[in-house]
Amino acid sequence: MPAFLETRAGQQLLAVIAGAVTVWGLLYAFRLNVMATFRLFSSDRVDALFLGFFIAGFASFLYSLLRIFDLRQEMQRQQENGRRALWTATHDHLTRLPNRYAFERFETLPASGNGGATEHPPMATVFSVDLDGFKKVNDLLGHQGGDLLLQEVAKRLSAFGAEDCVFRFGGDEFIVVARDLLPARDARFAELIVHSLTRPIKIDALRCQVGASVGYARWPEHGAELKDVCHKSDIALYEAKALGANTALLFREEMQSKVSDRAKLEGQLRTAIETDRIRPFYQPLVDLRTGDVCGFEALARWTQDDGTSISPQVFISIAEETGLITPLFQQLLHTACGDAKLWPEHICLSFNLSAVQMEDRMLAMRILEIVEEAGFAPERLEIEITENALIKDPALAAAIIDDLHAAGICVALDDFGTGYSSLSQLARYAFDKIKIDQSFVRSLGQGGVRHGKIVQALLNLSRGLEVKTTVEGIEEHHQLAYFLNEGCDIGQGYLFGKAMPFDQTLPFLEERLAILKKA
Ligand code: C2E
Ligand code: CA
Ligand code: CA
Repeated sequence: MPAFLETRAGQQLLAVIAGAVTVWGLLYAFRLNVMATFRLFSSDRVDALFLGFFIAGFASFLYSLLRIFDLRQEMQRQQENGRRALWTATHDHLTRLPNRYAFERFETLPASGNGGATEHPPMATVFSVDLDGFKKVNDLLGHQGGDLLLQEVAKRLSAFGAEDCVFRFGGDEFIVVARDLLPARDARFAELIVHSLTRPIKIDALRCQVGASVGYARWPEHGAELKDVCHKSDIALYEAKALGANTALLFREEMQSKVSDRAKLEGQLRTAIETDRIRPFYQPLVDLRTGDVCGFEALARWTQDDGTSISPQVFISIAEETGLITPLFQQLLHTACGDAKLWPEHICLSFNLSAVQMEDRMLAMRILEIVEEAGFAPERLEIEITENALIKDPALAAAIIDDLHAAGICVALDDFGTGYSSLSQLARYAFDKIKIDQSFVRSLGQGGVRHGKIVQALLNLSRGLEVKTTVEGIEEHHQLAYFLNEGCDIGQGYLFGKAMPFDQTLPFLEERLAILKKA
């Protein structure tokens, strides 16, 4: 009861009672005058009692009115709070666009603006939009800059649909639902989205540019429910992104099977890593001047239980996307160091590093730990890094390369000539070796005069920088003769040998030695 009296209702009750008692008291005190007016009964006392009842009745009425008024206000407040909570739950605060939860509540497609008076059955296209290079802007301009960019993107996308038809699903992922869009026009619509988002965006004094990939699917053609259609437009988006920036793709059924196959392969890859089914094979590296084997490059090989071999290009990229590359790398490096220990001392081990691993500041330390655990000399290890691995965070890459050098590990630039800004990479990082990509070797046989000139320039450059060169993909004697003549240091290719399991490496070395002795 005391707690009730502290509430607004309790306070009102007390005030009404106090008011009523006061009125009653006053009326009673002046009874001579008032009672005469209100004399209804024969006795004063009965009159006073009646007056009391009358005032109490009036006070109750007043109290009820006050309560009803308060309750109405309370209900309005609760409705407003409910509306606000629903808005918060269904909208993205940064862009003020509806979010994924709002999309899921969007069970039935809203009626079109023309009241359904179209000549065709209801239809809609769901466009999944994802920005390309958004992370770079975020890194460059900080989160505030990234937020401004997302707000501008939301504004531009909002021009493509009704207010409730553009959603932000999180990060740089947006959805546009275009109602009553004829199938013949959705490709153009997607193009317009890409065009609109790739126009420069001014953030403070800077002009930024991002790319956009779009995947789209149609309702009801690709799914009875909008969320199924959205799932398919996401699949198309995934394919579009794989094709490169600023691409728009319509969902096709074969994309679905590709996604399921990939998911299956991902599961198998996980198991293969857990059960140590992926093994390093070793491809010889030959000193072109002496003809001696000077090392082996470890190349991952995965043969499934049914005998199917999966290309490393396929499973390494899945491992990179899923984060499985780290355990795979550690496992392979540990095995390879254990194997390489058994080769003659002058034989080195080359090991490939994935671009995603260059985000790990402690990478050199982790590598050194594995090498030491396996009892292998770090000076006999060479890490191969592709140019693409240097682009994302050049300062971090330089720090990792320095750490590797400090540990005594050599660093080679792999696939040289295929990535970006090759020359600037050479100037910036202290590589011990460059590996000229096999595409240059192949193009020699196809009359690639210009490629030949580039190869000569590359070799001159590496000589100037006192960096050794390896040429990959030598398959024919004339290719070997060409690179030998041009002064290339090391050769690798099917002419010398393909990647082989460890137990074939020692017989291979003996065989090579015997051939050299005979020659
Ligand atoms: P890469 O590092 O450039 O390896 C050389 C690739 O060229 C290997 O293909 C090798 O088998 C192939 N090759 C060597 N000589 C010849 C030749 O004379 N002719 C032709 N046509 N090809 C030749 P592979 O083993 O299929 O590996 C492909 C790529 O997969 C590698 O390219 C590397 O980027 C990646 N990879 C392989 N193993 C690993 C690994 O353990 N870790 C990482 N991160 N990547 C790996
Ligand atoms: Ca390599
Ligand atoms: Ca290579």
